[in-house]
Amino acid sequence: MENCRQIAKQIRIDCVRMTNSGRSGHVGSMLSMADLIAVLYEKILNVDPKNPEMPERDRFVLSKGHAGAAVYSALAQKGFIPREWLSRYYCDDGKLMGHISHKVPGVEFSTGSLGHGLPVAVGMAIAARYAKSPRRVFCMTSDGDMNEGSTWEAIMFAAQEKLSNLTMIVDYNRVQALGHSEDVIDLRSLKDKLELFGFAVREIDGHNCEEIYDALSKLPLDENKPSAIIAHTTKCKGIPAFENTVKSHYKFIPDEEIEAVIEAIKEAE
Ligand SMILES: [Mg+2]
Repeated sequence: MENCRQIAKQIRIDCVRMTNSGRSGHVGSMLSMADLIAVLYEKILNVDPKNPEMPERDRFVLSKGHAGAAVYSALAQKGFIPREWLSRYYCDDGKLMGHISHKVPGVEFSTGSLGHGLPVAVGMAIAARYAKSPRRVFCMTSDGDMNEGSTWEAIMFAAQEKLSNLTMIVDYNRVQALGHSEDVIDLRSLKDKLELFGFAVREIDGHNCEEIYDALSKLPLDENKPSAIIAHTTKCKGIPAFENTVKSHYKFIPDEEIEAVIEAIKEAE
């Protein structure tokens, strides 16, 4: 798993630099899911940078599209896109849009407004079943996504259809755009809710690469149900001064702090 930790570290460093040069936000949302994205792209997803459109590839949909820079970093590390593209993130002449875009090789679907990712992922999972394809569909959602009615409609339909080829990963950092989730819409026991709605559920530490790999390599959790992995994470993980803060949602690290922050990320275990 050491390579996954190194990839996650590089994702964090890239996101700090990209949001700074793009003068954009959401660094907290990106750092929260860095370890999940690293394990997905390094160990789990059947995808090929030499053949990004291969029909039998696994599909990954990032529903929290505002954190797309973390996926762009993973795609660059895997060879889907040139690393040079990262430096022009969120710039008028760049190729990487602020919110994740399917115009970028390796990205399946553009998202931004929350609540769109899972409904599309459910459609992809049904399509795979009709095609009798072994490909799997993964969708990463956020606290904000879990406030959206369309997400819960998709959850009910996925359970009804017993879509065992679908896995939802919740980046459960308990912070969203305008506040701590318990103060906005408290999800209370998300595990109980999802189980009652017909998903098989496992909770993990979303920063422990071994635990992430163990969960994602033993899917489906139940042969007759869609799977949900609730990943307990920390907003802005890796930058102690901004961990678990609402301001990290719209934050970028200013010029005068950036080198110290990157040094700290490099030295962290
Ligand atoms: Mg959140």
